[in-house]
Amino acid sequence: MIPLRKLSLKKILTFFIVIILIITFILKITKKDKLKLLNNTIDNAVQVNKYFIYGNHLNISGDFKIDNYDEIKLVLKSTNNEIELNSNISDGHFESSSYINEGIYLDNIPIGDYFVFLKTTTKDKNKYYNLSNKTNYNDLNYYTITKNKKNNLINIKFSSYSNKEFLSIKVTETKLPDNYYDIVIDAGHGGEDPGASYAKHSESDITLDYALNLKEALQNIGLKVKLTRDNDTSLDSYGINSRTGIVYETNAKYTFSIHLNSSEDNIKSGGVEIYSPNGADTSFAENLARHIVNSAQTNFSHNESFKIKDGVYIRTFTKNDINSSITTAKEKGYNPYPITTDTTYYFMIRETGGIATGAYVDGRNKSYDKNPYYNNNIGSESYLMELGFINYQKDLNNLLYNQEGYINGIVEAIKEEINL
Ligand SMILES: [Zn+2]
Repeated sequence: MIPLRKLSLKKILTFFIVIILIITFILKITKKDKLKLLNNTIDNAVQVNKYFIYGNHLNISGDFKIDNYDEIKLVLKSTNNEIELNSNISDGHFESSSYINEGIYLDNIPIGDYFVFLKTTTKDKNKYYNLSNKTNYNDLNYYTITKNKKNNLINIKFSSYSNKEFLSIKVTETKLPDNYYDIVIDAGHGGEDPGASYAKHSESDITLDYALNLKEALQNIGLKVKLTRDNDTSLDSYGINSRTGIVYETNAKYTFSIHLNSSEDNIKSGGVEIYSPNGADTSFAENLARHIVNSAQTNFSHNESFKIKDGVYIRTFTKNDINSSITTAKEKGYNPYPITTDTTYYFMIRETGGIATGAYVDGRNKSYDKNPYYNNNIGSESYLMELGFINYQKDLNNLLYNQEGYINGIVEAIKEEINL
């Protein structure tokens, strides 16, 4: 018995040692192959000045000093693949998009190990330029939207190898960690704050009911959804477990805030208003508005202020808003916030997007909490939906008795947006 046992243990050990040697050898070859790509690249000509993830897009921009080329492009390159990226390049400046919610579509990159290069072509000869980092940010981890219960992890990182600085993007298959979600639904108001009310109905009750049912509808198409509140409770705006905090804590790619409008006057019409972040391409907001109008048989709001297109609004700070913000700062003795007429007004859109949407609540005003994530370079693509006017009887009836119409419209627009 004893010699036999010894023999099998020896065999097992040898077997494992051989396996480990083979794996190490394969890893070495792969690494060598990958780093070979860096052998003939050119350094110190291209620098990244800004990069962030907003929703499911990576946006990179910066400057370069390269003379004489016929063509110039931003590319992803691995040992066996080259993917051309959309970009605007001119006068020594490049950007993957001028819109915050465009650029490099992360959910579409095949599994692999890539470098990001600027590639020039001159008379059929290609040159590749490394990207060096001039920002204060580095490592970014992004999980793709859940499809068929699957997700990819994307690691975006500046590294260096024998004095070459480069940007790499590594895509691997994985499972979404427990605390990560695809979408956050925010039922407006709640608890001590009922929002608008009319005929015994309050905005906070109706938005909660919508949030609960929208969550279920989105889960039914395989998405992982988190609510900011699931009962009639008050929420802080900033900090742990707050409205904006939950968005960052769950790393949600999209956030939808549900609200109802109300008008001071005796209104003669109602309708839908979708508020989009400033600096974003509005095609998703347009689709949300259009699908809701069609599916719930309602109409686009007739409100003209801050209107961009039918049903789509971008509310930014006005000169008056800025002046009153400066007055408050003076009264309370802190430096005014860096707000311009380009800054998005609604905090739920602005403060959930980090640097992409100009979040600024950094704690200088002691009257409310600090947004600990205001300086993040990864943010959620957020929309605020005013589904109808609570004090317009036709809208109220439709909102109360045709909820499915509204929810189906929202789900359709989301499915289209994420290619589900
Ligand atoms: Zn509201």
